[in-house]
Amino acid sequence: MLSTCFHARTVFWTSNSCRRWKRNLCYSSMAASSSSVRIVVVGDVHDCWNFEQDSKALQFLQPDLVLFTGDFGEENLEVVRSVANIEFAKAVILGNHDSWYTKRFSISEKDKVQLQLECLGKEHVAYERLDLPLIKVSVVGGRPFSHGGKPVFRKQLLSARYGVKDMDGSAKRIQKAAVGTPEDHFLILLAHNGPTGLGSDLNDICGKDWELDGGGDHGDPDLECAISLLKENNQVSVPLVVFGHMHKELAHGGFRKMIVVGTDNTIYLNGAIVPRVKNLGDDDRRNLDNESPLSSLEAKGTARAFTLVELSKGRVTRVAESWVSVVEDRTTLIEEQILFEGN
Ligand SMILES: [Zn+2]
Repeated sequence: MLSTCFHARTVFWTSNSCRRWKRNLCYSSMAASSSSVRIVVVGDVHDCWNFEQDSKALQFLQPDLVLFTGDFGEENLEVVRSVANIEFAKAVILGNHDSWYTKRFSISEKDKVQLQLECLGKEHVAYERLDLPLIKVSVVGGRPFSHGGKPVFRKQLLSARYGVKDMDGSAKRIQKAAVGTPEDHFLILLAHNGPTGLGSDLNDICGKDWELDGGGDHGDPDLECAISLLKENNQVSVPLVVFGHMHKELAHGGFRKMIVVGTDNTIYLNGAIVPRVKNLGDDDRRNLDNESPLSSLEAKGTARAFTLVELSKGRVTRVAESWVSVVEDRTTLIEEQILFEGN
């Protein structure tokens, strides 16, 4: 049941309230050129992606930008190609599962890491900055293929493609990509895994949940270092850091903290709701629309998870975990957990 996933403030939507919400979405989208921006985060996909159904859900959410935190599957080229084809502005970072088999680039034929990078093109933002002047947002990518913690994962891939050999070099590459962000742009750091320094308990945003005897901080030290360098030198402000990898559902039960607001107001957001797709059960289907319940003859629908980030005047005003149901051509917001509300 979907409701068991939510342990904080949860809002159920009826069909009428959904229609109101959808109108607001359209308004928000139209207002994007002035001050309001809607960003949708798709956390670790792990094969749970369907072009048709996710396109319908995204059409409902009307994002100005979609961020993907990686781990599409075990080098699942088909999913990555499908993601590359969605008709929304997007930025992507590949995760450790996206280089699950490939330790070094093949020279005899294109391996699946090369093919994934090729089809994503400039939308794969590792160590690069993607400027979106229409919405005044810039996305800077962290280290791709990260599996968290101190060791650098897939060293040979990083060295060959980016010239990065260690954590220090990686931090400097992230910093370099962020410097020069247009002054009036809202900067988002997009990484597969979050930074160190956000706690070491089992349920912390990057805490090890698979070791019951004390957990530990499984964040990326290079990302923490890059953020510190940017802040120390006052080079650019870092209002939002988006990542995945550390799944919301913990290995031994319970749920992870998915958002942290730093003392300097940087928001750290983990989007890894895994699995992100559930089949709608009978009870969930009844919640969709009390006035005209779905008949058993209708195609089986799904509920799909996204994390919505609303920006207004260069600040984060709202963050929510949102589940959108897709039943044939009908899309509905069925559940929402508000993670953050600002001014
Ligand atoms: Zn991962």
